[in-house]
Amino acid sequence: MSPRLRTRTDVGWLLRRQPFGEADLWLDVYTKGLGRIRVLAKGARKVTSRKGGHLQLFQRVHMTLARGQSWWILTQAQTQTWFPQLRTDMHAYAAASYVAELVLRLVPEGERLPGLEPLLGQALEAIARLPYGPQWVPRIFEWKILSLAGYRPEWDRCHRCGTPLRLGEPKAFDPRGGGVVCDGCRGPQMPWISDRTWTLLRHWATKPLPAVLEKEPPQDLYPELTALGQAYVRTWMERVPKTWRVERQLGEGHHER
Ligand SMILES: [Zn+2]
Repeated sequence: MSPRLRTRTDVGWLLRRQPFGEADLWLDVYTKGLGRIRVLAKGARKVTSRKGGHLQLFQRVHMTLARGQSWWILTQAQTQTWFPQLRTDMHAYAAASYVAELVLRLVPEGERLPGLEPLLGQALEAIARLPYGPQWVPRIFEWKILSLAGYRPEWDRCHRCGTPLRLGEPKAFDPRGGGVVCDGCRGPQMPWISDRTWTLLRHWATKPLPAVLEKEPPQDLYPELTALGQAYVRTWMERVPKTWRVERQLGEGHHER
């Protein structure tokens, strides 16, 4: 092996796979050590490949990587964790795809957000294991990842005038300003936020994801939480994530299940 070839090992969640050439795969992986990386898996689509079986979406893979010119080359892969439901249940697959897309949109290649790797694991596990996971994990993950990325909204005070906010007083959400505003500071485009939703979002902001999901959030707040979360995500992204459309179509079936 050339002395210039840097190799290292890392573990990460496989978020996107794209066929390349005859038998290769491009992988987008969010790893514990390197953050978001792009990895070339040569020959991974050959029937005889030993790597191929370890490279399914949403798996946590232990990888040995060699540094290429501007990407990593996969030399060995071993699956550590995977949740079969994410590939067999359509709603779970759509939710996991949305979570993956948020990571790919918000975290540029080569960047690492401290805390995101374990959060991803918690999110994928909850989607797979909880009956209400596919519906609720995307809603909660939106706020969690934006907070890790530095866009944690102000919940306790009006972010414009600093007035402490109380139950029973009208309040609105300002996605561009990054928080809740009082009645007097509300602009025309800012949606009202109900007291119950405000209380729930404050709870989500202070508790880790598994604790938030210990019981199912109230179903009647789902539309309001969806509108607020997507308004906030949209503010921080160039365009609407394409999996939203898929999720919305599937979402219509949630209540019948
Ligand atoms: Zn105010």
